[in-house]
Order: sequence, then C-alpha cells, then structure tokens
Amino acid sequence: MFVQSSFAGNRGVAGELYLVATPIGNLGDITVRALEILKSVDIIAAEDTRQTRKLLNHFEIDTRLVSHHEHNKEASSKGIIQWLKEGKKLALVSDAGMPAISDPGYELVRVAIQHEIPVITIPGPNAALSALIASGLPTDKFIFLGFLPRDKKPLREELNRIKVYPETLLFYEAPHRVLKMIKEVHEVMGNRQIVLARELTKKYEEYIRGSVEEVIGYLEQQDQVRGEFTVIIEGNLGGDEEVMAEWWQELEPVAHVEGYIQQGLTSKEAIKKAAEDRKVPKRDIYNLYHGE
Ligand code: SAM
Repeated sequence: MFVQSSFAGNRGVAGELYLVATPIGNLGDITVRALEILKSVDIIAAEDTRQTRKLLNHFEIDTRLVSHHEHNKEASSKGIIQWLKEGKKLALVSDAGMPAISDPGYELVRVAIQHEIPVITIPGPNAALSALIASGLPTDKFIFLGFLPRDKKPLREELNRIKVYPETLLFYEAPHRVLKMIKEVHEVMGNRQIVLARELTKKYEEYIRGSVEEVIGYLEQQDQVRGEFTVIIEGNLGGDEEVMAEWWQELEPVAHVEGYIQQGLTSKEAIKKAAEDRKVPKRDIYNLYHGE
C-alpha cells in the first residue's frame, strides 16, 4: 500500500508526474493551473511534440519537450522514470484532452506508482464527458468504451457484448468510419437514440441528435463526413425482445467466456455460465477456452 498526499507531506522525496489536460479545440479551455504547471515543470512529455509546441508557443511557454507516444512509450517511460527518480518534475500531455484516455499515459502512470512517485492530475477538457453532458441522454450512469474495433468480426462481438447494457454508451470514432460504425450499431442494437457530437469547442461544433436510422439517413446525404466525432448512444432501456435475447448468441464460445470475464466473473465462473447458456457440458467450454 502507498498513500500519496499530493500537496502535504511526501513531497520533495522524488519528482512529480503531472497529468495535464489540454484543449480539445478551443485554446481558451486551457486551465490556469495547466498553464502554471506547464511553465514550472522541468520537462513536458508529449504525444506529438510538434503539436504541443504550437500550444506552448501560443502561451509563450518554453519548457523542454520530449516525446512519449504509442510507439516509443516503453523506452521513453524508462527515461521519464529516471528523471522522476532524480527529483525532476514532469508533465504528461496528449494531443488533446486528458492524457491516458484513448491516449498514451496509462502505462507510465502505473510504472510511476510502482516507483512511489507522486502522480497528480490536472483536470480539464475531455471529449467524451463534454459530449455526454450536452447530449440530452441520461448522464446518471454511463460507460466509456473508447474506439470500437475496426474489423467486422471483433466489432460485432463487442457490440453484441454491450448491447444489453442499460447505461449510456460513449465512443470515439474517426470521421471516415462513423457511418459504418452506426450502421453496425443499427444492425446489432436496433434503432436507439444517438447523438454525434462533432468538432466540440471549435467553430463548426455541431450536435446531431436523433434515432440511429435518422442519423444514418442524415450522414448518407453528406458529401463527406468530416471533423472529430464523439458518439453517444442510449443504453438498452429494455422492451426490445430481440436485443434482450442472449448477448452471446453471435459469439464464439471463447469470446462468450471472455464477455463474462469482462463483466467481472472469474474464468471458472465464466466457463460455468457460458456452458449453462449454451446447454453444453462445462468441460467442452473449458477445453475450448484453454485451447485443449
Ligand atoms: N484524450 C482525449 C480526450 O480526453 O478526450 C481523446 C483522445 S482520442 C485519441 C481522440 C478522439 O476523441 C477523436 O478521434 C474523437 O473521437 C474524440 N475527440 C477529440 N476531440 C474532439 C472534439 N473536439 N469533438 C468531438 N470529438 C473529439
């Protein structure tokens, strides 16, 4: 166990790792605290140093920048941890929004914690939550799912797994895949309410609110679908017999077991439940799951 008091006690022993949220479009959304931290740290680790340099230039900040992205994160984490152990203060930023949310950061945070280095959040913009609160869909319970798989089979499997969830569903998606994604959603989840939050905080910000069928029709009329999209989908409110039917029915047995594990069951419980669902002996599922 390690209790971190970010602002009292435990200070000055090691460096500090600040996770700094940056704007998702409108530079006015940077916080006063984010600017203070970006100015005062020894080093900023950025997903894309050129992108972050533009932000820093705008605010006349000349802190040293190093790169920490998806493809160098293991090697770069080692250097970052070394600096932190020497007592340096580092800020981690991504291209936009909160680091570690569908962006690099999670692994670095874990390693820093393992080394008992204080990890301090500097909150700010985030596309998913910004979209959710303006969506008009329920905000009391929601699930953030990031980017869906690109390939059809795992995409279908994931949609089948989540189609029973009653919570509002939050996704990120690339503009050229949004229409395809929503068509798949329609196939698997039916005609729910959906909101596309496009270009949040930017000049052409837009909320496209309607049923899945209406939004598909709307997008099909556009010459080109452009901009950054966050997709918010109504949860399963019940009543749709077909959707409420077994979530696993289109899954392979192994994915069926994995679905239960993701829902919090142990592998033993998941195998038992999958066998019961499929009305097959537990041993059959066990053998498939363990590759025997
Ligand atoms: N870390 C970021 C955050 O906290 O929001 C998310 C990074 S993820 C790599 C980028 C995705 O976020 C985009 O593909 C898009 O789906 C969503 N996104 C980012 N900026 C957005 C904006 N201004 N409007 C709508 N969606 C946005």
